[in-house]
Amino acid sequence: MAIARVALPVAVDKIFDYWIPEGLAVTTGTLVRVDLAGRPLAGVVVDVGAASAAQSGSLVPLRELVSELAPLPPDVLALAGFVAEYYQAPLGQVLALALPPLGEAGAARVDRRAQPMALSARGRLELPARLPRAPRARELHARFAAAPGGVLDADALQALPDSLHAVRRAWARAGWIEPAASPADPASRSRVELNAGQLEAAAAIEAAASGFQPVLLQGVTGSGKTDVYLAAAAAAIARGRQVLLLVPEINLTPQLERRVLAALPGRRVVTLHSALAAGERRHRWQEAAEGRADLVLGTRLAVFTPLPRLGLVVVDEEHDPSFKQQDTVRYHARDVAIWRARDRRVPCVLGTATPALESLHRAQQGRYAWLRLTQRAVVPAALPPLRLVPDRSTKSGEGMGEPLQAAIDARLERGEQSLVFINRRGFAPALLCSACGWQPGCPACSARLVVHRDAGVLRCHHCGHAEATPRRCPECGNVDLLPLGHGTQRLEHALAAAFPKARIARIDRDSMRRKGSFAALHGDIHAGEIDILIGTQMLAKGHDFPRLTLVGILGADNALYSADFRATERLAALLLQVAGRAGRAQLPGEVIVQTSFPTHPLFVALADHDYDAIAATLLAERRVAELPPFAYLALLAAEAPDRAHVDDFLGRAHAAGTQVLAQTGAGVELFSPVAAALARRAGMERGQILVRCAQRAVLQRFLGRWRTELAGLARRRVRWSLDVDPIGFA
Ligand SMILES: [Zn+2]
Ligand SMILES: [Zn+2]
Repeated sequence: MAIARVALPVAVDKIFDYWIPEGLAVTTGTLVRVDLAGRPLAGVVVDVGAASAAQSGSLVPLRELVSELAPLPPDVLALAGFVAEYYQAPLGQVLALALPPLGEAGAARVDRRAQPMALSARGRLELPARLPRAPRARELHARFAAAPGGVLDADALQALPDSLHAVRRAWARAGWIEPAASPADPASRSRVELNAGQLEAAAAIEAAASGFQPVLLQGVTGSGKTDVYLAAAAAAIARGRQVLLLVPEINLTPQLERRVLAALPGRRVVTLHSALAAGERRHRWQEAAEGRADLVLGTRLAVFTPLPRLGLVVVDEEHDPSFKQQDTVRYHARDVAIWRARDRRVPCVLGTATPALESLHRAQQGRYAWLRLTQRAVVPAALPPLRLVPDRSTKSGEGMGEPLQAAIDARLERGEQSLVFINRRGFAPALLCSACGWQPGCPACSARLVVHRDAGVLRCHHCGHAEATPRRCPECGNVDLLPLGHGTQRLEHALAAAFPKARIARIDRDSMRRKGSFAALHGDIHAGEIDILIGTQMLAKGHDFPRLTLVGILGADNALYSADFRATERLAALLLQVAGRAGRAQLPGEVIVQTSFPTHPLFVALADHDYDAIAATLLAERRVAELPPFAYLALLAAEAPDRAHVDDFLGRAHAAGTQVLAQTGAGVELFSPVAAALARRAGMERGQILVRCAQRAVLQRFLGRWRTELAGLARRRVRWSLDVDPIGFA
């Protein structure tokens, strides 16, 4: 009897055996449906063999094949195998990442792409009169007005909130909108001219096309890195190959998709990300897997997409922490992309203005080719001058100093746009009783509650707990409770008070909760309908606003106090990226940073836009401290409702690790168990053990054995995880 060994998406690190019913064609890579303890699951066959006599009695059959998807090819199975081993994760969970969401049994539905739509002549004539009394219609109308060429493409239509879909259907029935040529159709395409630096970089990537070659493409913001990738992509596709282009965020894909389509006329481009409807994602995955898609543009999960003709891998904004998954399988999509490129013997381009120190170090060692773009692509657009001004926010109470206010005023006079950046949402990060010093904390976390004045609540940003803002102090009865510090909402109030005529928009997770609202606002900003933008890091990257000439940065000092050793690296990357938003087109820009530490080396280097100097300082510190990229880390994290259970588990984990070390030899440092920086979250006590080693292979050997021991130690009430190459220590 033949048996299939099946990897299933469950947390135990185990492969499950099923016998193969007569007539089912099952090979390695086949997708199958099975029952596991009465639960129907889909999994991937990783091996086919003969059952031993001892087993065969207890085995159950496969239920059926997943007919709507082709088997996973050997290279994707190998990729998943590497990820499972390296990141210490169950193979079944890794393979689940490689698959699109499956439909119900037998439902091999293929969604057709929505057709791009535009306002018809009749719609343009008849609609405006109806808009004043119809807010939803007004919103849809604004989206059409803001869309490039007045055309909403398939993705934009799909991203509409449910309330607007009804309006759209009514308009289609009334003949107010009609199918339109997508703005990416040949007639409206514009070819991009590369400058000398870009041409050189594109040529260097093309020259590496015949084998594995990691390339760090480091270019200042606005230097046109994207045009270089797209030229390299066009060349690869012209050779009959497929291209994988990874981006950190879903928010960035619609804009980039438009640029990609414009640069690759007649080519099939598909986007893949987790926000797509299941059927649509399956359909696009299939196009990639069958070799029909020329370019796949996607977020980190797209790194596992089967691509039979893969010829080039590009990771845009390679330093971005969102490439690292923070739960289940804790993989880093950039590092997985590099492994995949090596396995498939194709070049892998890592693009960024601010390389991760790991990537920079490898480039400096000569392990990566290192290409640099030092000029901004638009000729008059120099990097904006950056001014450090003293932070007097505690005195003025509302966050903004005189110089920033004056600069915003000047922009309003000239009809230009300003962006005020503060990486903290809410009204104020804490509430304080002026009499006794009481501050409300979260009942479930070791964290203070954030003041959200618009909603009249205090909210925990770690677990979502919310409670009404108290009228008086529960400790002393004092009614004078003061919001402490600044968040985006408070800044919005302050700006509205200082500039009553300005049109102000706030962009953070609270204001952008509704699907598609970001896209609509994006259109408003482009159309010049907004004077002052208030933004968190949602707004830091990838957006080009031609009339934006001032960027003010508040609260930058916070990262200097962080316990996370990567905080300064991230701050530098973030600030340079935000600064890069100013003056990207014809108008010159300016950046103002408010800080209490104007002589801090980080800010001084920042004022010169000198990421190299910042990176050199940080690398020197990391070398002394034996931190990445000069060492490899892994983190065992554990949590349980009771501190005693966490301590007990970590104590035994440490003892087991010490024993494993006695066998696997020297070189691995096992640190003592400590509480996590956020010691309690959502009612769970949290602790961790850090592991460090100078050699990756030695660390891997240790982790593999230690994990086996840990699985045996686990108690029901303790949740634990191993994070290899962790990027945060929260
Ligand atoms: Zn009090
Ligand atoms: Zn909480």
